[in-house]
Amino acid sequence: MTEEMEQVADVTRRLEAIRARLNEEGLDALLVQSAVNRRYLSGFTGSAGALVISPERAWIFVDFRYVEQAKAEAPAFELVQFDAFLPRLREVFQSAGIERVGFEAAHVSVAASKSLERELPDVDWTPTVNWVETARGIKEPEELATMQQAIDLADEAFEHILGYLEPGRTEKEIALELEFYMRRRGAERLAFATIVASGPNGALPHAVPTDRELQRGDLVTLDFGCVVDGYASDLTRTVAIGELDGRGRELYELVLRAQLAGIQGVRPGRLGKEVDADARSVIAQAGYGEHFGHGLGHGVGLEVHEEFPRLSTRGEVELEPGMVCSVEPGVYIPGWGGIRIEDLVVVTSDGCRVLSRSSKELLII
Ligand code: ZN
Ligand code: ZN
Repeated sequence: MTEEMEQVADVTRRLEAIRARLNEEGLDALLVQSAVNRRYLSGFTGSAGALVISPERAWIFVDFRYVEQAKAEAPAFELVQFDAFLPRLREVFQSAGIERVGFEAAHVSVAASKSLERELPDVDWTPTVNWVETARGIKEPEELATMQQAIDLADEAFEHILGYLEPGRTEKEIALELEFYMRRRGAERLAFATIVASGPNGALPHAVPTDRELQRGDLVTLDFGCVVDGYASDLTRTVAIGELDGRGRELYELVLRAQLAGIQGVRPGRLGKEVDADARSVIAQAGYGEHFGHGLGHGVGLEVHEEFPRLSTRGEVELEPGMVCSVEPGVYIPGWGGIRIEDLVVVTSDGCRVLSRSSKELLII
């Protein structure tokens, strides 16, 4: 198959999932305005536009700037060019006899939903939640292959940065070096703002890199990732500079044990909150439960934080083969510092496979 035919095949499979939902809910069409969902369903990577999917047809609405791109990237869709979106949408709905329409409640502002009701008063608008996100939760083999490239690049960047870490380097310099490395090797962008947190700054799970210089005895948490062909990676390692005291060693071993327990717990049929508990109980039993204040993991794909699945105390989603998530316990002690270890895993038929390859042995550099 040519690349374009493969793309059409993917899109057909994805549209079928949406059409099954339309059928179940008795709707005539789904209006898709979220950029990520638009890309997932159509292949169109432009930053503005909308999709309408009915049981038999699929349209992509774009303005003048995106006509050529939409033709090239979304060949399975009928192209509708607009100057004013809502009047054009009304025309298409009328000509196709579309009356009951689902919209993405999580991605349409209150103001925008009021405009829909005002400009298309004859349409029966129904809020939908997570139709596309649920489908996105199960990764197809091609998606996994793309994501693996982003993950491999993060692994390479980690190996590279180990040779760069030394007393006197600032957190900002280290973050920049990681970012340049990934961009130079083909990342289209960063997956999120890089975290480099040294010494006491490590106590903040989402620390922003500062001008603080690394010192002997510091633990440094590096949490970073990149995007390749739309798919994100997310990796965290914590390393020691020069030496590490007894408490640091003890806590590193604890977080690693919790992380391995979390990975061990990932398999089909389990709920996100059960896996979270597997890791959390290890940390709690050692007396550090109150120092692990965030969820164990999140789904990853076209976005670095996805709901399907979420591993946390509120994770009600049942794990299924093909889901990809992070497993990232941490311990954070104000005034002292913190440790977090994060890998991405894919749920398999009987457990999971770890996708990141960076060593988790305690590294003292
Ligand atoms: Zn991360
Ligand atoms: Zn993460």
